[in-house]
Amino acid sequence: MNEKYNAVLIGCALGDTLGMPVEGWKKAQIEKYVKRITKPIGPVLLKDKDGKLIEQDEFGKLKYFAKDLRRGDITDDTILTLALAESIVENKRLNLEDIAKKQANEYTIRLRPDRSCIGGFGGTTMEGFKNLLNGIPYDKSGIIGGPGNAPAMKMSPVGIYMNEMVSYNEGLEKAELIGKITHLDPRSIVSGIVQAHAVYSLLNNYSRFNFLEALARISDKYERPPKSEFKLYEKGTLTSRLNWIKDNKDASVQEAFNYLGNNSLVFRSYPFAVFMFQKYWDNPIEGLLETVNWGGDCDSTGAMYGALSEQKME
Ligand SMILES: [Mg+2]
Repeated sequence: MNEKYNAVLIGCALGDTLGMPVEGWKKAQIEKYVKRITKPIGPVLLKDKDGKLIEQDEFGKLKYFAKDLRRGDITDDTILTLALAESIVENKRLNLEDIAKKQANEYTIRLRPDRSCIGGFGGTTMEGFKNLLNGIPYDKSGIIGGPGNAPAMKMSPVGIYMNEMVSYNEGLEKAELIGKITHLDPRSIVSGIVQAHAVYSLLNNYSRFNFLEALARISDKYERPPKSEFKLYEKGTLTSRLNWIKDNKDASVQEAFNYLGNNSLVFRSYPFAVFMFQKYWDNPIEGLLETVNWGGDCDSTGAMYGALSEQKME
């Protein structure tokens, strides 16, 4: 079991670092400039003849979130996952105040003199951390920002905790509160709860069918109805998209991409990672590489996927 726990964390880091150099790129851009990512590489910085970064090509914008990083570096996905894991190990419980403190500290130590931050932290996450650093308590620091995927990308250690401490219900409750430290969008919050359950379920050897059925069921149980105060609320719930995967589990990756998308909005990236994981159920390494090479928020889809690969340890 300890090896499986390690595999959750290593899988997260591996997916993160594989996607890091091309975060935000389209599949066609990765194919054009990198061909295929099959191992960790350094940032890919495309420059024009004057040495300036090329910010646009025929496929769209080109982003360089990783320009200060090096081959094998991790980003916010793994940084915040490890902060959560370290808090659990140190406290031997889910201590929300300490989790909030440790996560905000990871942001503080990466601030540049101009107040921007190394590591690719999302906008909503940073606003939540700023609230914490200004003395606002962890149960009031979350904001209604974009429906980001940070709760899902960092929640895997809670799934380990639920298994090791035999604390399933407590884990789901605390996953909700951990998500709310930064995010108040109901889809973001429920993504963290679902990912905690997902890691737990795979440590307990759920079948592919049971895995998918339970993800949709847990999401439905915990997801609050969308309200107009939340950005892009009309784009759908996480539950509806997890149900789509359950009903279309053998769809092609292209069909899943067309329906789900894979950018950093949680109702796109998290279901895309789940779809890919269950599609490549018996071949997780190939599936992880394929997920990253589909681009989008591919350090996070890689991290969320990678954290699920532990049941393949035998
Ligand atoms: Mg990242």
